[in-house]
Amino acid sequence: MDTRRHFLKGVVAGGAAITSAAVAPPACARETHSRPAEALGLLYDATLCIGCKACVAACKEANNNPPEFSTEDRLWDTPLDTSGYTFNIIKMYRNGTMQTKDAEVNGFAFMKTSCMHCADPSCVSACPVSAMTKDPATGIVAYDPGACVGCRYCVVACPFGIPKYQYDSPTGKIGKCELCRHRYADGHYSACAEVCPTGATLYGRSADLLLEAKRRIALKPGSVTRYPRGKIGGPDQSYEGPVGNYLQHVYGEKEFGGTQVLKLSAVTFAKVGMPDLPPKSSAATSETLQHSLYGGLVMPVVVLGALSFIAKRNVHDEDDESGTDKDKGEK
Ligand code: SF4
Ligand code: SF4
Ligand code: SF4
Repeated sequence: MDTRRHFLKGVVAGGAAITSAAVAPPACARETHSRPAEALGLLYDATLCIGCKACVAACKEANNNPPEFSTEDRLWDTPLDTSGYTFNIIKMYRNGTMQTKDAEVNGFAFMKTSCMHCADPSCVSACPVSAMTKDPATGIVAYDPGACVGCRYCVVACPFGIPKYQYDSPTGKIGKCELCRHRYADGHYSACAEVCPTGATLYGRSADLLLEAKRRIALKPGSVTRYPRGKIGGPDQSYEGPVGNYLQHVYGEKEFGGTQVLKLSAVTFAKVGMPDLPPKSSAATSETLQHSLYGGLVMPVVVLGALSFIAKRNVHDEDDESGTDKDKGEK
């Protein structure tokens, strides 16, 4: 028993010493990655959204996803949240009498939920087999079901709760928006933006979308402006409409290191379900820590070697002490 106690004491003391040495501030913390220059994305403007959910139906069709039912009649596709088979959903904020659109008090508002295509995605960083990858040119975060081992690290890592596991699938894969990259070869783009009647969901280069978002929030509420529809820089489908009472905040410009999907709203983002995130991505933080601890596999080898040495020494010390007592007893 004493031997085991000495062993554990040595392990704890040795582990603490090694750990405190190893977690000293890393010499070179990894910077948060930025969006590629030609990054593609979406701009969702909640003040233009009428909640028609044409984008939800178009997303289902474009991705060949089955309907999901939340009503007993099972007549319509009525998902309540994103899932392994629902990559895009429009949620509704409600308050009090719900009289006024885009009012926080006694109002209602809409918010789109789909992959944000983060500049520095934690799903990519967490995936141990590179089934989640970020395209260096377009920045699209893509998923490869052939490489996926179903560990669901990406599900846990995403701060937006986006990757979802297909529990009923025999192969158990992940489902998430890939910005409709499979449609580009035929001259199409994101189905949700193609179908949106008001331009509330707009597709394009993230840099152009950010400029458009900043143009909108600089306008006077109630004035009239032109809103593009479909694809920014594509065929002109623009129309004139009143300017909403925007928050002075482009969600996704800075959050979590920046995202390629950007959002505008008149209702506080936290109230419409968007998380309050710091400007640094968690991928940068976790990779810095991992690389500090495990760089070149030095850390595990050092820890194992040191712990073995301490354990052996304590066991020897104990044997020596026992031997002395025994000798004494024999005398
Ligand atoms: S299609 Fe456009 S207007 Fe309709 S719910 Fe989707 S984002 Fe809103
Ligand atoms: S929103 Fe989530 S799933 Fe999409 S890129 Fe960012 S971390 Fe990955
Ligand atoms: S880009 Fe495509 S997959 Fe992503 S939300 Fe829009 S329609 Fe769905």
